[in-house]
Amino acid sequence: MQKNGTVDSKIMTQHQLQTELLRCEYCEEKPCKEACPVNCSPFDFMMAARVGNPSDIKRAAAEIMSSNPLGGVCGLVCPDRFCMAACSRKKFDGSINIPKVQATLVEMAKRLGGIPAFSVPTPNGKKVAIIGGGPAGLGVASVLGQLGYAVDIFESRETLGGMMNLIPDQRLDKAVVQSDIEFLLSLGVIKAKTGKKVENPKSLLGQGYDAVCVTTGLWKPIELGIENENLAIKMVDLLANKEVYKFDGRVAIIGGGATALDCAITAKECGATHVEMFMLEKLSEMPLTGAERQELIDHDIEVNGRIRISKIQTGGKGITGIETKKVQLPEGQPFKPANILDIEGTDVVRTEFRTVVMAIGMRSYIAREQINGLFYAGDVSNGPSTVVEAVAHGKNIAIEIDAYLNKQDKPEIKKATKSYYAMPGYNSVPVSLETDFFGRKINSPYLLSASPLTDGLEQMNKAYEHGWAGGIMKTAFDNVPIHIPAGYMFTFNHLTYGNADNVSGHPLDRVCREVEQLIKQWPDRLTMASTGGPVSGHDESDRKGWQSNTRKLEACGVMGIEYSLSCPQGGDGTEGDIVSQNAALTAKIIDWIMEVGSPDIPKLFKLTAAVTSIVPILRAIRKILDKYPEKKAGITLANSFPSLAFLSSARLPPNLDMASSVTLSQVPLS
Ligand SMILES: Cc1cc2nc3c(=O)[nH]c(=O)nc-3n(C[C@H](O)[C@H](O)[C@H](O)COP(=O)(O)OP(=O)(O)OC[C@H]3O[C@@H](n4cnc5c(N)ncnc54)[C@H](O)[C@@H]3O)c2cc1C
Ligand code: SF4
Ligand code: SF4
Repeated sequence: MQKNGTVDSKIMTQHQLQTELLRCEYCEEKPCKEACPVNCSPFDFMMAARVGNPSDIKRAAAEIMSSNPLGGVCGLVCPDRFCMAACSRKKFDGSINIPKVQATLVEMAKRLGGIPAFSVPTPNGKKVAIIGGGPAGLGVASVLGQLGYAVDIFESRETLGGMMNLIPDQRLDKAVVQSDIEFLLSLGVIKAKTGKKVENPKSLLGQGYDAVCVTTGLWKPIELGIENENLAIKMVDLLANKEVYKFDGRVAIIGGGATALDCAITAKECGATHVEMFMLEKLSEMPLTGAERQELIDHDIEVNGRIRISKIQTGGKGITGIETKKVQLPEGQPFKPANILDIEGTDVVRTEFRTVVMAIGMRSYIAREQINGLFYAGDVSNGPSTVVEAVAHGKNIAIEIDAYLNKQDKPEIKKATKSYYAMPGYNSVPVSLETDFFGRKINSPYLLSASPLTDGLEQMNKAYEHGWAGGIMKTAFDNVPIHIPAGYMFTFNHLTYGNADNVSGHPLDRVCREVEQLIKQWPDRLTMASTGGPVSGHDESDRKGWQSNTRKLEACGVMGIEYSLSCPQGGDGTEGDIVSQNAALTAKIIDWIMEVGSPDIPKLFKLTAAVTSIVPILRAIRKILDKYPEKKAGITLANSFPSLAFLSSARLPPNLDMASSVTLSQVPLS
C-alpha cells in the first residue's frame, strides 16, 4: 500500500468494487451515459468488469478510454453532478460511485499490463497544430489522431496536462495524469512539443499546418483592484510550486470556489496553522460538490461568507494584515458579484495575517479571432469548466476540424460540452472465447443445436463457415420412421409449439455419414450427434437398441453423443417421451449406455425441463456415473419449450409465427 495521496488511497478494494458492480441496475436507458459529457457508459464498463477476470478488467478499461482518453484522471476528479447525479439508484440507496469504479478499473488495467492498444489508422497526409496541452488539447488530439491526422501539440510548460497539474495531489495523483497521457499519445501520430509557447496561433497556418486549434485555457488571474494586491500569492503560483512555499500562522484565501478551496488545503499542507477563506458568497452559495464541502470540514477551514478583503496592509517588509468589509445581497436578487453591495461602517482590521492567496478566477490571455482554419476548444472557449467537459469540447471541435478539412458541412453539435464520438480504434472484442469441452479446446461456448430444418450436412457446413464452434446433429433413430411437418418447427399455433429442439427426420445412418464428413472437413469444430432408443418395457431389446445407436455413432468418430431422455413437447404420451421423469428408468438406460460407451467420447444425457423435481433424478444418475469414473459424461438441460407444451392453446396468441433458439447448458458430472 502506498502513502496517502497516491492513487492507492483513492481506488476501491476488490470487495468494494464488486459491491458497487452488483449494485448497478444496468438500466436499459443508461441515464448515467447520457449525463456524461464524453458519453462514457458506466453501464457498459461495469457490465464488462462484472465477472472480474483480468481480460474483463482490461476490456472495461478500454471501453472507458474509447470515449474518454483521460478516463483515469476523470475517475479521480469528475464531480458528482454528471453521471452520479443521473444514476437511478440515487434516490434509492445512493448513486453508484461511478467515478471511483472508473478510476479503479483503469488503474487495475494499467497494473495488468496496460489498456489494450487501440488501432491507429494510416496517416491521411494532413497536419494539425494544437496550442495548449491541457484536457481540451488532448481531447482534440485523440480524435484527430484516430482519424489519421498528424498532430503537433505545442505546450508552453515543460509537461503536458494543463490545469490537471494544478489539482492537488491528495485528489489527483500525477502518475495517473502521466499514464493517461501516454495512452492518449499512442492513439495516433501525435507529437508533444513541450516548452514551446506560441504567441501567434494563426501564424502556424502558414507553416505547413492545415488547421490550428487553440486550447490555451484560462491562465490570466482576474484582478480585484484592491490596494497591495500584488503582494498576494497567485493561485497558479501556489498550486504549481507548492514545494517552495513554507507558511506558518494564519493564511487568508480570497475566493469561495473549488480552486480557492484547493488553495486553502494546499496552504495547510505548506504549514499554515489556520486558514480562513473570505468570499462574497455565503456558505450555501459556495459552488462546491458534496465531497468538496466535506473536504472543507475535514481540513478545518474557516469560512467568512459575505465578507470581502478591501485592502492588504504592508509595513514595508511584506504583509502585516488585512482590512475586511461586510457585504450584502439585496433582497430577492440572485447571487452574482455584480449584485453585491458593501455595508458601510463594517470595516475590520486584522493584523494576524502574513500571507494572502488570491483565488478568484482566471481569464484567457488570448483574444479570439475569426479566421478560416483557426479553432478554439476547452476553457478558453467555454469559461471555467471541468476536465471531462474540456475533453468533450475538444472531441467535438476535432470533428468540426475534420469536416472543415474535408470540405464538409459543419456537423450539428447540440451542446458544446457533450460529445458522442467514440474512438474507432477501440477493439471491442479483445478477449478470447476459447473454452474447453471435456478436455477438447473449442473456439467458443456457443454450439448449434441442429434440428429440423437445419439438421443436414449442408446446413452444418454453412454454420461452420460462419464460425460456429460446434453443433449437435439433432436426435436421430435407427429404423424409426419420423415425419415432421416443416411448419411444426417454426410456427406457433394450437397444433405446434415452434420447437427448434425436435427430433430429426433423418435416419441415424445418414447422420453418421454426415458426421464423418463434417469431422474430416472441420477437425477443429465440435461435431456431436443426438440419439435415443426404444422404451418398450422389454429390457433386453431396449438395451440393445440404446447400445447399438451408441456404437454406430462412436464408429463414425463423433466427438460427443447427446441422449434425449424425454420429449419436450410431451410426444405421443408413451413412457419413452418422459423417461427422465422416472429416476429408475433414467438410471437404467444410462447404465446401458455407459457400459458399452468409449471412455473418450463424452455422453450428455438430456433431461427435459418438464421434470418437476430434478434432485432425485440427478442422484440416480450420479450413482450410475460413479460406476464409470474413467468415462466422460454429463447432463444437459437444453430443451426449449416444455412449459409451453402444457399451456392451453387458447392462451397463445393466434397465428403467432416465431423462430426459436436453443442453448446448451451443460453440467458435467464426471
Ligand atoms: C486548482 C484547480 C482544481 C481543479 N479541480 C478540478 C477537478 O477536481 N475536477 C475537474 O474536472 N476539473 C478541475 N479543474 C478544472 C480543469 O482542470 C479545467 O477545466 C481543465 O483543465 C481545462 O482544460 P483546458 O485544456 O481547456 O485548459 P488548461 O487545462 O488550462 O490547458 C491549457 C494549456 O495551454 C497551455 N498554454 C497556454 N497558453 C499557451 C501558449 N500561448 N502556447 C502554448 N501553450 C499554452 C497551458 O500551459 C496549459 O497547459 C480544476 C482546475 C484548477 C485550476
Ligand atoms: S444509472 Fe446507475 S444503476 Fe443505472 S446503469 Fe447507470 S450506473 Fe448503473
Ligand atoms: S467520465 Fe466522469 S462523468 Fe463520465 S462516466 Fe466517467 S466519471 Fe462519470
